[in-house]
Amino acid sequence: MTHRTGVDEDATSTPQNGTPDHPARAPWLTGPCPPWCREQHTDLSVAPADRAHVGPYASVPLTSENYPKGSKAPIDLMARLEQGYREAEARVCLVDNETETPRFLTLDEAERLVETLTQQIRQGRGEA
Ligand SMILES: [Zn+2]
Repeated sequence: MTHRTGVDEDATSTPQNGTPDHPARAPWLTGPCPPWCREQHTDLSVAPADRAHVGPYASVPLTSENYPKGSKAPIDLMARLEQGYREAEARVCLVDNETETPRFLTLDEAERLVETLTQQIRQGRGEA
């Protein structure tokens, strides 16, 4: 019987200098990435404030908004998971592609927002 430790052996066994098939990973990584992280972490010069696991964006075009000046596309509201390398858990990052000002929600805050939105959607559709 094989005992799994939860440690991604590929993530921890990459040589310090890397190889063409397995580029070197940043030395600040102390373990494997969370399963949702899409970063390769091969940029070894990332500043401490920017060291984070980052998930892919989910994007929703805001079709009832005015298009940004000079744009032929609506503003996109985007959400993704991010977790600083010293943070205890992930946060949800909300940002639109016009202002590009990120807003971070704890997972509990994001859950409360989802519950509120779900309630408002039901009310708006006359279901509640
Ligand atoms: Zn990562």
